[in-house]
This record gives sequence, structure tokens and C-alpha cells, in this order.
Amino acid sequence: MIIVLKPEATAENRDFVVDRLKSLGFQTHVSKGEERTIIGAIGDERQLRDRPLSSLPGVEKVVPILKPYKLVSKDFKKTNSEISINGIKIGGKHTTVMAGPCSVENREMLFEIVDKIYDAGARVLRGGAFKPRTSPYSFQGLGEEGLKYLREAADSKGMLVVTELMDPRDIDLICNYADIIQIGARNMQNFRLLKEVGKSGHPVLLKRGMSATIKEFLMAAEYIASEGNLDIILCERGIRTFETETRNTLDLSAIPVIKNATHLPIIVDPSHGTGRRDCILPMAQAAIAAGADGLIIEVHPNPAEAMSDGDQSITPDEFATLMKRIKIISATLERHLEE
Ligand code: PEP
Ligand code: MN
Repeated sequence: MIIVLKPEATAENRDFVVDRLKSLGFQTHVSKGEERTIIGAIGDERQLRDRPLSSLPGVEKVVPILKPYKLVSKDFKKTNSEISINGIKIGGKHTTVMAGPCSVENREMLFEIVDKIYDAGARVLRGGAFKPRTSPYSFQGLGEEGLKYLREAADSKGMLVVTELMDPRDIDLICNYADIIQIGARNMQNFRLLKEVGKSGHPVLLKRGMSATIKEFLMAAEYIASEGNLDIILCERGIRTFETETRNTLDLSAIPVIKNATHLPIIVDPSHGTGRRDCILPMAQAAIAAGADGLIIEVHPNPAEAMSDGDQSITPDEFATLMKRIKIISATLERHLEE
């Protein structure tokens, strides 16, 4: 529910309401608007039957949140969230770009690309160490060795690391090396995994499941948030449709729909979203133009030799060209791309 305070409500009035809610086991979030303060509260509302909040001093009205997702909804928090990790910001007025190989194949390949992608404007290094492969006989990732290489390469430029977690047993290991835990499309509804990353308090990149509706996507985010972790970045990465020319159909209309529904930032993955190198630049441009908070792009020093997803990977030079366009579109929309 949302508790709207009167314009003249004092800080004491606000704290009294928050303390009352907390004592009844509610999670609260205070949003201070220009005119009035709003308190979002999630908990067992039956507790309030005998002691309604509407009678407390400074309270104007109490409104239920009708959406099934609560903590991540725009009702709960009106302003767009900005997540700051070691000084690198995601959301708000920032365009944040994550780039790197599909899989970490060896140490050298990361050092071959990291200077170029950093200079082009990427601030987060991506790379899979535990890969969700369709075939058990395909390359499964380097595990901890891959995590070490990612950390070392990212640290050489002061970048963040994002990498996928597939198994809750690896959560401490991943948190030791990575700044952002990626939950892949295949695990978007792995609810135990979502709860674990929620408990970890570590920032999360949550990718949309390949057959998930936007509501299901936001409910998955709510699982993480319900454990007290609101550092969630959503990622549109394409959904399965009848179309076969592209690997997935990148749902760009999800961006404005999601922006209206939630305060969480959303980035776009044109690599998995299309599966085609020739689509990466146009779809990256379109994503930022449509209001996305950033991109995640597969970059490989030699895509033809990549151990996974070579067809959708671009070279560091192609990435630099793409980023020049992204800078122009971001500036037009009054967003900042990290310099
Ligand atoms: C990835 O980003 O490495 C990946 C496997 O993506 P998705 O989960 O979107 O398929
Ligand atoms: Mn990939």
C-alpha cells in the first residue's frame, strides 16, 4: 500500500508512521516528492484493521497497490532508481554499457579487448564463466579461472564485472569476483535462485526469460526485491516468436511499458536479442532511442573463432563505431555516457 502524507506533515509525523509500520513487520520505502512525501509499505495489511494508518497525524490517505508486483512498481517508488556501484551509475540519467565476450575463453582474449571497449565507453566487463549451453557437450565455461581473468581485466581499467550465476552453490564464489550477478534468461523463474541473490544483497542483472511476459518478468524481479535487495537491473534480451530469421525477437516496446510499470533501470541485449551481427548496431541505437538505460553487447577479438555466440559477436572496432552513435543518441536525450 501507499501512504500519502499531507503537504504540511512533519518529519516526526513521517517517522511515526514508518516506525509503526516497521513494528508490524512491514518493509517501507519513503519517497520525498516536491510537494509531499509518500511511504510505500509491504506487509500483512490485516495487521492494520484495528489501528488504521489513516487516523495517524499527517496522513492524508492510504491507497492499495493493485499490481501483483509491489516493491518494484512505480506505485511504490515514483522516481526512477539509480544504482551506483563503485562510482559507476546505472539508471537515472545515465547510459551504461556492458561489453565483453559471450564466454571467457582465456586470459589473453580479455586483455585483447578491454582497453578498446573501455576507451569506447563501456564501464562494465561481461563474460560467462559458467555457461548455460543447450548441449552438455558444448564448452561449459572456465569456472573460477574465468572469474579471476574477468576481475583482473576489469581492474586494469577500473571497470565492473558482470557474470552469470546458474547454481545457488556458486553464489559466494561469484560474489567474490563479480560486482553484478547475472541471472540468465533460462533461470528467470528459478525462484530459489532469485531468493538467494535477493538475500546476497549483491546488485543483480535480471534477464527476461525467452517466453516470459512483462508481468512475469517483473514478478521475478519482485522475488529478488522481496528479500530486501532493490539493486536490480532488468534486461530485455528478446523473446521467442514464430520468426526464424532472427534468434529471438527483440521486444523494444517492452522498454516504455517497463519504464511506466517500474522504477528499476532496464538495459537491452541486442546480441542475444537478434543473434545476428548485422542487427547489433541498429537495435542498439533503437534501444537507447526508446529509453533504455544501457546495453549489454557481446564483443570478441575474433568472432569467427569464438567458442560460443560468434555469429552475434562484434569486434572491438565495430563496438567503438557503435558507441560513437550511442553517445550522440544519449546526448540528444540528455543522458550521460561515462567518459
Ligand atoms: C549471456 O548473456 O551470456 C546469456 C547466456 O544470455 P541469455 O541468458 O539472455 O540467453
Ligand atoms: Mn552469449
